[in-house]
Amino acid sequence: MIDIWVFVQLRDSEIEDVTFGLVTEAKRLLKQGQGNGQVTAVAIGPASDSDLEALGHYGVTRVLWMTDDQMTRYQGEVFGRALVDLVRKEDPTCLLMAQTSETEDLAQRVAASMQTALVTRAVDFHLGEDGTATAVRPVANGYLFEELAINTKPAPIILFLPAVLFDTKPELDSGAAVTPIPIPEIGADLKTRTVQVIEAAPEDLDLEEADIIVVGGRGVGKADAFDVIHDLARVIGGSVGGTRPVIDWGTLSYERQIGQTGKYVSPRLIINCGISGANEYTAGMEKSQQVIAIDRNPRARMFRFADLGVVGDVHEILPLLISRIEGRK
Ligand SMILES: Cc1cc2nc3c(=O)[nH]c(=O)nc-3n(C[C@H](O)[C@H](O)[C@H](O)COP(=O)(O)OP(=O)(O)OC[C@H]3O[C@@H](n4cnc5c(N)ncnc54)[C@H](O)[C@@H]3O)c2cc1C
Repeated sequence: MIDIWVFVQLRDSEIEDVTFGLVTEAKRLLKQGQGNGQVTAVAIGPASDSDLEALGHYGVTRVLWMTDDQMTRYQGEVFGRALVDLVRKEDPTCLLMAQTSETEDLAQRVAASMQTALVTRAVDFHLGEDGTATAVRPVANGYLFEELAINTKPAPIILFLPAVLFDTKPELDSGAAVTPIPIPEIGADLKTRTVQVIEAAPEDLDLEEADIIVVGGRGVGKADAFDVIHDLARVIGGSVGGTRPVIDWGTLSYERQIGQTGKYVSPRLIINCGISGANEYTAGMEKSQQVIAIDRNPRARMFRFADLGVVGDVHEILPLLISRIEGRK
């Protein structure tokens, strides 16, 4: 029987939306295999019992849940060993994850321990009836795609780019069976332990984690001209991102690039400044909840994605905005 595993992405004990997209992928794979099988969700860390059970409405048959005091925050060794232990016992068909900095770390640990196939940045995955599997991912900075034939034993791990995971609606009445899994003996021989947790200034926050992002494009300008983006981010507690030209200039480092060949982000609020809205950029920010665009060209494609559009020069508008916000504070 096919048993497709989906890794539940938890943040502050809540299930992140990408998990539902993964469940959709898992259901698609089940259909390819004539529906003979199940979708299993694996959760590690604190979560609400009822939220996990509700995954059943999306098509998950059962949830395997591991949590204890060591699992309140992501710790690669602890999560890795717990997951390897479970995979060894249960022998799933494959394990699907949404690509984040944490799952990148976790998947590498599990793949190395299990000596299994690992595909990162996947945009597509197929399971053949004859036990073969293939995956597609972008390479060469997004200029090419490569198709990989995958060894299916032991269970391959596929990390999907979040942008290709589509939200899904609850369709079923029944909840999933949630099974608490005993935690394997982990502790005394850990090679790393957390001694301190240092909160990053919001401006430096990983773009994938940020709630608010201010993004500057070519229209903002190089070097000192770009300071206005940092100033706005500072006053509203946001992180800073850039389009590819800004990264090519060296004004921001590559980890700050948003788009097809950069990061895929889904903040509560994104403010796009001097950005035309090329599809290679918008692919990386389409999942943002509230979108503001500021551009002097009223026909900029970026406005199509905006909940609020402001036509004008960023170097006139942003200083005004910053002083208004500071005045209110
Ligand atoms: C394979 C491939 C992958 C790519 N991957 C990415 C990617 O991951 N991320 C990415 O961003 N790009 C990517 N690109 C590049 C992408 O195609 C665009 O070239 C890029 O996104 C454009 O960036 P931009 O909007 O900052 O610049 P532009 O397209 O030049 O737009 C500048 C905007 O600023 C406005 N403007 C100018 N001055 C002002 C002012 N003073 N005030 C207000 N507005 C002003 C203009 O009206 C214009 O709308 C990729 C391209 C390819 C071919």
